[in-house]
Amino acid sequence: MNVFAWKDRDRLLHLLTPDLGLITANARGSASMKSKLRSLTQLFSLSDFILIERQGRYTIRSGVLQESFAGISFDLDRLAAASHAAEAFSDVARNGEPHRYIFDLWAYTIYQIANGEDPVFAARLATFRLMVESGFAPMLDACVRCQCEIAYPCQFSFRAGGLVCEKSDCRRVGDEGIALSEGAAALLCYIAKAPFNRLFLFQVSDFVREEASNFADRWLEQKMEKSYRRLSLIDQSGFRFEDSPPIKSN
Ligand SMILES: [Zn+2]
Repeated sequence: MNVFAWKDRDRLLHLLTPDLGLITANARGSASMKSKLRSLTQLFSLSDFILIERQGRYTIRSGVLQESFAGISFDLDRLAAASHAAEAFSDVARNGEPHRYIFDLWAYTIYQIANGEDPVFAARLATFRLMVESGFAPMLDACVRCQCEIAYPCQFSFRAGGLVCEKSDCRRVGDEGIALSEGAAALLCYIAKAPFNRLFLFQVSDFVREEASNFADRWLEQKMEKSYRRLSLIDQSGFRFEDSPPIKSN
């Protein structure tokens, strides 16, 4: 999930594992060009590792690269999407007990980010599903206050954690959240419940994509109580590195 230079030629890896959760492991000598571990330290790759554990510290003895997801490193959108999702998944994994679902959901997510047509949207929806799996499911199929059916387009209150209907008893100060269309609510319901292997099998309009993206980002930031900034660069409309103005010389 992350790689850091360490001492002269070592690298510290944050590994998301099926059984141990997020761990830090030292890949000794892996920064050297000759190291057999070098290929295993590539960001967002999938490998089998043999680890040595001593007093809670892990060292990588050997490993086999299973999938490098190489496409991510060559595409700015995919890299930003993977970085955004990895930050959220690492935060959840770091703050709780190890859970298999975090690893499984990450595996489907990183595959989609590497190969799918819309890696940024996939990353955002994956963080939403991650929040649902972590116990933060919004009420999206009825009014959160009176449980009655909702008329669309409707209002989602982040304070109440669900849709609020138009009855005056149900609308309270602080409920100003965002408007959600029926399509966006349906997509979010699907993402909250679909089996992981079917999570990204949907098609939506640009309008629903926009609404669901805004929702997923706000829901993540509210539940994790922090800002996630890795996507801000590509969200600035039309910005690409090659578009940046030349540096003026005086
Ligand atoms: Zn209501």
